[in-house]
Amino acid sequence: MTMAIKRAYIFLGPPGAGKGTQAKRIAKLCGVPHLSTGDMMRDAVARGTDLGKIVGPIMQRGELVSDDLVMKMVDQRLAQPDCSRGCLFDGFPRTLPQAEGLDAILQRLGFGKPVVVDLAVSDDKLLRRLTGRRTCSVGGEIYNVYDLPPKVAGICDHDGGKLVQRADDTAEIVGQRLAAYEKATKPLTEYYRSQGVLHVVDASLSMDEVSRALGEIVKRAEG
Ligand SMILES: [Zn+2]
Repeated sequence: MTMAIKRAYIFLGPPGAGKGTQAKRIAKLCGVPHLSTGDMMRDAVARGTDLGKIVGPIMQRGELVSDDLVMKMVDQRLAQPDCSRGCLFDGFPRTLPQAEGLDAILQRLGFGKPVVVDLAVSDDKLLRRLTGRRTCSVGGEIYNVYDLPPKVAGICDHDGGKLVQRADDTAEIVGQRLAAYEKATKPLTEYYRSQGVLHVVDASLSMDEVSRALGEIVKRAEG
């Protein structure tokens, strides 16, 4: 068997596109670790690395960790043995400087070209998904008043718990979140598109259909 090229899979997508779920599924399919900057930071803190000792107090104060530190953390994480076949980034990079920094690290560590997936959903559909979301206050079950309504409005089918809407799922806040996302990531998708590594997947399809489309992209990338 020939040595497969190790690759970084990068998942981009607005809140509500199902990015976390798909990232987990595809990481499992590819047999590579699923990496988010939050997890990487918590891991560095837990293991008590030099970087963890710097980052820990910053996180504790609830402050933003600088790009410089984030890049160092990614660098160290990618050098660990479980990334020998590649990795999957969920929610990283977030900015153009981070994307450029990541390219340099990947090149230095002998990775092939990244495979970047943009989980695209129209704003209308995202609004529906996010503003329609209701969570059971007892068991945590998730419903959607448009796509997955409970049998009785406002009441959980399983345990009769009251269904509540998260404060940041109201139309106004969702609109703000989507606008902020678009502004921050547009340069990122343009960057990857110009490198010919961007794949756009219609994330308004069902979870399983999206997974299938992603599986095809992975197969083509590896084949
Ligand atoms: Zn419930």
